[in-house]
Amino acid sequence: MMHDVLIIGGGPGGLAAAIYSTRAGAKTLLIDRVGPGGQAAMTEKIENYPGFPQGIGGLELTDAMAEQAKKFGLKIESGDVASIARGPERGFTITTRGESFQGLAVVLACGSVHKHLGVPGEDKFFGRGVHYCATCDGPFYKNKHVAVVGGGDSAIEEALFLSKFASKITLVHRRDSLRATRILQDRIQSNPKAGFLWNSEVAEILGENSVNAVKIKNRASGETSVHAVDGVFVFAGLLPDTGFLRGFIELDKDGYIVTDDEMRASVPGIFACGDARKKPLRQVITACGDGAVAGVFAARFAEEAGRST
Ligand code: NAP
Repeated sequence: MMHDVLIIGGGPGGLAAAIYSTRAGAKTLLIDRVGPGGQAAMTEKIENYPGFPQGIGGLELTDAMAEQAKKFGLKIESGDVASIARGPERGFTITTRGESFQGLAVVLACGSVHKHLGVPGEDKFFGRGVHYCATCDGPFYKNKHVAVVGGGDSAIEEALFLSKFASKITLVHRRDSLRATRILQDRIQSNPKAGFLWNSEVAEILGENSVNAVKIKNRASGETSVHAVDGVFVFAGLLPDTGFLRGFIELDKDGYIVTDDEMRASVPGIFACGDARKKPLRQVITACGDGAVAGVFAARFAEEAGRST
């Protein structure tokens, strides 16, 4: 069945695009791997989304966005998009493992995935002491000692969340100053459970059935030391989840989707929004802003193409 607008990805960008395209009268289908919400749904509390002075739970916010989009007629399918192609006659065909969907316009809201450290032990202990989401796995570490790797907003926000459960947090950062927003830096610096290993990188994650230590290399001295920990939470940044788009549209050298101000990608009829787009600030609010623009222009493109029905 032909749709006016297909949206790949159900994070805040995809959901905002859906609200705007459905309200513009476009028959819209959103495809997501696990159901709407994206990375934002895994955030315990979002403090910088305007309108919520006390903050709002990530899942609560994205559930409300999905409900709002469905109210205007959005349909949602689960599926892991493997490829995208033009045609067969007009528009585009998106293929998941097992199904295919057609749309006159496509909004790519495919978000990002966690960067791995690529050190020995990381894959071996994945889910058995190595984690990438504190909101999901933090409660398993009540009264335990955990290492948190990274110095950005995610690392500090998630370390603060972990400090509710863990007895001790050791932050391992490759430089001598944090990248995170000042308010988060102040909070972690004054948290009595937090300790810091500066200029340090994880050389290896050690254990038997599960993690029991990390080997740390000091980048200044080159010395290594072993620290007993029960778990390692890695927040080394994000990579755009755009592998399936390689060769189809223009991506920058890091794999982010290049768009113009109207969220048009390099192929007419393809739009992009959210974390997968090349842009200077990746936040829920900017994903929603992109999504609104992409939704409006994708719906307009479908209308000019003669709509699906
Ligand atoms: P990020 O800002 O890219 O920070 C990644 C951190 O990991 C940096 O401190 C980086 O070190 C470190 N790192 C990178 N590669 C590493 C490696 N191989 N080994 C060890 N450390 C490594 O990523 P993020 O914190 O996930 O945030 C992603 C985006 O989401 C950002 O735009 C962020 O502002 C946003 N975000 C915002 C909020 C909020 O507003 N509350 C919360 C979460 C995320 P260097 O500092 O040396 O580069």
